[in-house]
Amino acid sequence: MPVHQERNLLLKNAPHAVSALPTVIPIFSWLNGIPAAIRTLFGSTTAPRSRGAVLIKIGLLLYDFYGSRHRVMPRHSMWSRSMALANIPPLTPQIVAAGLYYDAKIVHPERLVLELGEDGVRAEPRSFALNYAEIENSDGETVTLRDAHGVVRGVRPRVVVNAAGPWIDKVNARLGVASRLIGGTKGSHILLDHPDLSRALAGRMIYFEANDGRICLVFDYHGRVLVGSTDIRASDPDAIACEDDEIDYFLGSLRSLLPGLAFERDQIVYTYSGIRPLPLSDGTAPGLISRDHSAPVIEASEGRQWPIFSLVGGKWTTFRGFAEEVADVLLKRLDHPRRVRTDSLPIGGGRDYPAAVEQDRWLDTISRATATEPARALQLLHRYGSKAGDILMSEGRNPVFLDETCGHSEQEITWILRNERVIRLDDVVMRRTGLAVTGRLSLATLFRISEIAAAELGWSEVRRNEELSRVQEILSKRHRIRWA
Ligand SMILES: Cc1cc2nc3c(=O)[nH]c(=O)nc-3n(C[C@H](O)[C@H](O)[C@H](O)COP(=O)(O)OP(=O)(O)OC[C@H]3O[C@@H](n4cnc5c(N)ncnc54)[C@H](O)[C@@H]3O)c2cc1C
Repeated sequence: MPVHQERNLLLKNAPHAVSALPTVIPIFSWLNGIPAAIRTLFGSTTAPRSRGAVLIKIGLLLYDFYGSRHRVMPRHSMWSRSMALANIPPLTPQIVAAGLYYDAKIVHPERLVLELGEDGVRAEPRSFALNYAEIENSDGETVTLRDAHGVVRGVRPRVVVNAAGPWIDKVNARLGVASRLIGGTKGSHILLDHPDLSRALAGRMIYFEANDGRICLVFDYHGRVLVGSTDIRASDPDAIACEDDEIDYFLGSLRSLLPGLAFERDQIVYTYSGIRPLPLSDGTAPGLISRDHSAPVIEASEGRQWPIFSLVGGKWTTFRGFAEEVADVLLKRLDHPRRVRTDSLPIGGGRDYPAAVEQDRWLDTISRATATEPARALQLLHRYGSKAGDILMSEGRNPVFLDETCGHSEQEITWILRNERVIRLDDVVMRRTGLAVTGRLSLATLFRISEIAAAELGWSEVRRNEELSRVQEILSKRHRIRWA
């Protein structure tokens, strides 16, 4: 299914985790890019990429056309220069116009992954999911797994699906196969505490040409401003972080785009880097490597009884369609019928999520039933979808907030610890909540969460201190969190 339709399905199936993102493209000329587009049509891969108003208008018409199936968002519009500057006053006056279209953002990506795993297990009672499990070794028949508690178990697969993204070749090596499938590129992002820019963005994204002509983006993310991303060849996902020159690149590009605002390093509250699991393509410039997905198969052989399907080029927008394609091939091989379709299946807290017109009634009912303020109920509905009801029930009339600014209660953290497969302290602050990424985690709050986790998960004092040191080191070294 095309990417736009997949995006529309995500908006419908996971309304608690995915939301519409009005996106502005600043335009710097009327006709730029037409000769380059013609050269690209005839095979050039080096034609300059800057696009003027005419090309952008054509692009946005096509965007609306392809996104018309399952449409949930408005069509595009064009802004004159004065409209654009009235809407976003700090924008550079060098623009001639701007385009406005609707994309989508995943507001809680890590939570969505957890929910997908849980839904999968629920759909087939004989299945199970192991968190932090790693392949220890394989003899070609049995694969030995070790989980986070050190428990070792053997499985005898009929098929192995390697969905380890940028780690695919490393995991294949553990399965005894030397593969060279991934040639990823690193992308870094920074998050800024910049209230003036948040206000100017007003929930929108700006999709712009950075100082070197590459496309970058800046948008409001939980009250912070997310800026990204770079595209640099890199292979080891365990050894990357956002570097100083990437930060200079972002800040310099923002200064050119938004000269009406100041940008400084001390506004940065968090940084992160990931490797896009792109197909290996030696010698190709990073921006030109194919973004399509594929599932190459390493068939069973003499010393190995099962084939391996490796999921190369996975993207957030198209993961459902990709999974469906691969599952259909596997089901055919295994001679099983498909029992569940996923295109109209709500995900996690998207199940029983109240539609916009029903939200006031939902909030009213839940607030009465749980004796909570409607504003708190709405905050948790946006965070957890329909699961918010359970958390509100545990908070009741007296949520005990971890601190004055973070918006998370002790009861909420306890609920997460009891229900969401937490193993490490970093699971809570980096993957079940947005506390770390939004730079709203103080040392005192981290300490309190570690106490709650220790009580719930039975950690000794030694283990709790280990968890605290580990998470502080990860956040300081890899994410540039500065502790107050
Ligand atoms: C900078 C950047 C920007 C992006 N922008 C977009 C975007 O705008 N839109 C979009 O749709 N997508 C985007 N993506 C793509 C997307 O975020 C991911 O790359 C994509 O979701 C890959 O998913 P995956 O499941 O294949 O791999 P991953 O999400 O990387 O998951 C692989 C998993 O394998 C696990 N693993 C590793 N080693 C082992 C082992 N030995 N045993 C067991 N498990 C292991 C890892 O812990 C990890 O959880 C972007 C990616 C990056 C890096």
